[in-house]
Amino acid sequence: MAEMRTIYYLWRPARAFRSGRTRPVQSIILHSTDGREAGDVATLTGPRVSVHWYVTRAGRVYHFVRNSDTAYHAGKVTAERYSNSASLGIEQEHFDGREDWTRAQVEEVSRICAYLIKSFGLSRDAIVSHAQAASPKGRKQDPLDYPWEMFHRFLDQKLRYDWRAEQIPE
Ligand SMILES: [Zn+2]
Repeated sequence: MAEMRTIYYLWRPARAFRSGRTRPVQSIILHSTDGREAGDVATLTGPRVSVHWYVTRAGRVYHFVRNSDTAYHAGKVTAERYSNSASLGIEQEHFDGREDWTRAQVEEVSRICAYLIKSFGLSRDAIVSHAQAASPKGRKQDPLDYPWEMFHRFLDQKLRYDWRAEQIPE
């Protein structure tokens, strides 16, 4: 059995989400917010949109919607497996086209992906960008210039472990 590792997150419950799912989880969609932490957290717990996970540039992890519930992050998509009902969403604090991607952020996102892949029996092909999933093509560009090579190197490492997620007590 693989060694067990833990992801620690801040729990901030979203308002805009649906309890439960109408489809099994089949994909993980990566996003970028074009924003900064305080504003992003307010938006993602506000009345219109939500996402399951959010990682800051410094690698701080927020959890807004339970994995078993439906978040509102994908919009119109090219295939059913990318729909809100069938996907998990990870937002990242990042201004597309205006800054680099930090190792801390990419590594933390790879941990969450390893945890979700193992929890839901997914393959790494289930991880896509919002740009890949969005319909019509070109509607979304995020996460722009994502360092996929670095991400997959980290993911290789993280998949050697089993993962659990634990709320940071406040
Ligand atoms: Zn997006």
